[in-house]
Amino acid sequence: MLNSVTKKFTDRSTIKKFIFEFYCDCCSSPLQMMEYDFISGFKEKVFLTNDEREARAIIYASDHKKAYERANQEARFLLHKCEKCGNMICEDCTVFDADGSVICKQCADKLNS
Ligand SMILES: [Zn+2]
Ligand SMILES: [Zn+2]
Repeated sequence: MLNSVTKKFTDRSTIKKFIFEFYCDCCSSPLQMMEYDFISGFKEKVFLTNDEREARAIIYASDHKKAYERANQEARFLLHKCEKCGNMICEDCTVFDADGSVICKQCADKLNS
């Protein structure tokens, strides 16, 4: 499993949906949740045989991994990377330096003090 884009991240996946939540490295506020439906093909059935259960678990694990990778990619688009400390930061924490580089609020405060 690849590392999460942000330092803090929560996996809220259920049996029906893959749900991931990422948090800004700077202010810790959560981004919009990334949600994807899990379509196993067994959805309509109420009772599954052991074989079907096992098959579903395998599909689930592999789809979960794909959904996680996709969520990371999407989170990356919503965030900026601070050029000083490397933190992944939300829109609110993004400060543009005098020379046009992207830095986070914490680094900007340090520069100004
Ligand atoms: Zn932030
Ligand atoms: Zn920074």
